[in-house]
Amino acid sequence: MSSRAAPSDLLQIRFWGVRGSTCASGPQFVEFGGHTPCVEIRCGERLFIVDAGTGLSSLGFDLGTSAPAEIDILFSHLHLDHIGGLPFFKPALLGKERVIRTYCGHLEGDSAMDSLERIFAPPLFPVRLGQLPARFEHHGFRAGEPLVFDDGARVETFLLNHPGGATGYRFRHGNRSVCYISDLEHSEPWPDPDLTAFIRDADLVIYDGMFCESEYSNCRGWGHSTWQKGVELAKAAGVKALAIFHLYPGHDDAFLKEAEAAMQTEMPTAFVARERQLVTLEAGGVAAKAPEAKAEQAEDFAS
Ligand SMILES: [Zn+2]
Ligand SMILES: [Zn+2]
Repeated sequence: MSSRAAPSDLLQIRFWGVRGSTCASGPQFVEFGGHTPCVEIRCGERLFIVDAGTGLSSLGFDLGTSAPAEIDILFSHLHLDHIGGLPFFKPALLGKERVIRTYCGHLEGDSAMDSLERIFAPPLFPVRLGQLPARFEHHGFRAGEPLVFDDGARVETFLLNHPGGATGYRFRHGNRSVCYISDLEHSEPWPDPDLTAFIRDADLVIYDGMFCESEYSNCRGWGHSTWQKGVELAKAAGVKALAIFHLYPGHDDAFLKEAEAAMQTEMPTAFVARERQLVTLEAGGVAAKAPEAKAEQAEDFAS
């Protein structure tokens, strides 16, 4: 099944990987999934991909031959959990006409090219991106400055507090907006006034809630936040719905369902993001649907 383009007035989000740091696998990780970060964002028919974690391979199978000829991948940053799916992205293997553009904002204007060429090269990896059929173009920008694309699309950006930096994004379409805020560590004072202004009144914020407050003292300085800090930020900014994301690989389905119930007592529209979950932002408000049957995945890998 190929990926659906949203009708022109809809803003749609599909989670293809929601785990942070490394994959999770096993019967206790079925509901929320195990792939590392990758999110499909459709502004009407316009496709954006945020991050190229291992979830990108599933998105590639889903897009198949219906993938657009030109594809834009926006990196939050280049830690391994956000780039590992790149050489396994099926549209990159399909033909010479395909152009895949990457955008990277935390390297003070430099593109991701040098870093990706170091990682995806022998002896660390058998092939270079340049040997794949598709043509890659790598663009750098400064986080904080808007990204403007040739077709007129515009995405706002924000520098996040993370080791080496990371970029947050805000997509707007049809009077709706979604923000991608991962990876970051909350700071004092909290909520951060600049970040609050950046996400103000968004319909959905995807937030790095890797830990919970009771774990945080052991993880301080690792560059990640807690779901409680996400709820605090979302409420201060008048955000309508919150997706907790970049999930700790040690948190199983039972743990995450309990955390979700706890966050919903404070913010009823908060939820823990699930792999393959589709969220549609439309005039009636946020509509989050449960992920489609796992059978779809088996079909993908057979194709
Ligand atoms: Zn990460
Ligand atoms: Zn990171």
